[in-house]
Amino acid sequence: MRKVRLLTPGPTPVPPEVLAALGSPPIHHRTPEFHSALMEVEEGLKYVFQTQNDVIIFPSSGTGAMEAAVVNLVSPDDRVLVATCGVFGDRWVKILSSYGVKPDVLNVEWGNPIPPEDLGRRAVEGGAKVVFTTLTETSTGVTNDVKGFADVLKGKDSILVVDAISGLGATELLQDEWGVDVVVAGSQKGLMLPPGLSFISMSERAWTVAKDSRLPKFYWDLFEMRRRFEEGGAYTPAISLIMALRESIKLIRTEGLENVIGRHARLAAATRAAVQAMGLKLFAPNGNCNSVTSVWLPEGIDGSALTRMMDRRYGVTIAGGQGILKGKIFRIGHLGFVDEVDLLGSLAALEMVLLKLGFGLELGVGVRAAQEVLMKGGTA
Ligand SMILES: *Cc1c(COP(=O)(O)O)cnc(C)c1O
Repeated sequence: MRKVRLLTPGPTPVPPEVLAALGSPPIHHRTPEFHSALMEVEEGLKYVFQTQNDVIIFPSSGTGAMEAAVVNLVSPDDRVLVATCGVFGDRWVKILSSYGVKPDVLNVEWGNPIPPEDLGRRAVEGGAKVVFTTLTETSTGVTNDVKGFADVLKGKDSILVVDAISGLGATELLQDEWGVDVVVAGSQKGLMLPPGLSFISMSERAWTVAKDSRLPKFYWDLFEMRRRFEEGGAYTPAISLIMALRESIKLIRTEGLENVIGRHARLAAATRAAVQAMGLKLFAPNGNCNSVTSVWLPEGIDGSALTRMMDRRYGVTIAGGQGILKGKIFRIGHLGFVDEVDLLGSLAALEMVLLKLGFGLELGVGVRAAQEVLMKGGTA
């Protein structure tokens, strides 16, 4: 017997209601039936994004909407800032560079969040028209202070663009209230869908800036997507995924966004307590990340053996390190459709695997520490 448990920061487990919707035959997108589903989805997305802006949907992985943000907001000679603390922050640099734009880059040591005052100072000093950054840096398990970013940029000319792909639905993000101009998201993380949809929500100020952008674009042209939004977009929408998104949004509405975020915070706190009780060290002690916990591999433990044994023996998929952290850390996702029992079982499996690989620990110490956090309902 084999069960698949995705304790990874994307893709994440998909609830049965969502899977059932995915199993229905696709309907045509120029029909009243699809239109009404799309409008319901759009209302739901506004709730999850905490915005009154249109949320544009692309059939693509999350990176597609990142590219859409770049090509719709930037011109070749623009001054832009990327504030990064990991692999996904660096992706903004790669996208911009591939269009010939050389951003100013604020690099923060991996494992730490970006200090808002540093971001603000660099944006002002460099005269940045657009600032690109990340809500939750999935490669390191760090949540950035996006409200702080919006605060330091208030009254300035910079547009703030946030990759919230792994943070949306797991971490508080009040786009309109905080004044975040652009938020980008993807389907296979907190939204509990398979990969294949990306989202972008832009303020009126950002749409105004977008009018003047001169980077080349066709598929990613946001004005064209917005103009034809009511038809499902300019091109064939990912009909099945949108029908399924209607179901996952219903689940989020039923639980309530605040409770969804609270559940993520609790699972994250329990995970941090558990791995430390096992004698492991957090990679990002100040990461405060609701979506993923990153952990140093102990001396002498092979990361690929660990993730392989977790998967093959116990059906628990966790993630290794990315970029310069490959072979140095592993990452436990607690994102999307994950509950307390999923987590406790996975932590129990982790203890058994570590013991088998020769790491000395007492069985149950980590699970117990997690249980204690969960019983307190605490967020330690
Ligand atoms: C998953 C992820 C992405 C993008 O991923 P795709 O593979 O393109 O869907 C971008 N940024 C962050 C922070 C992510 O976690």
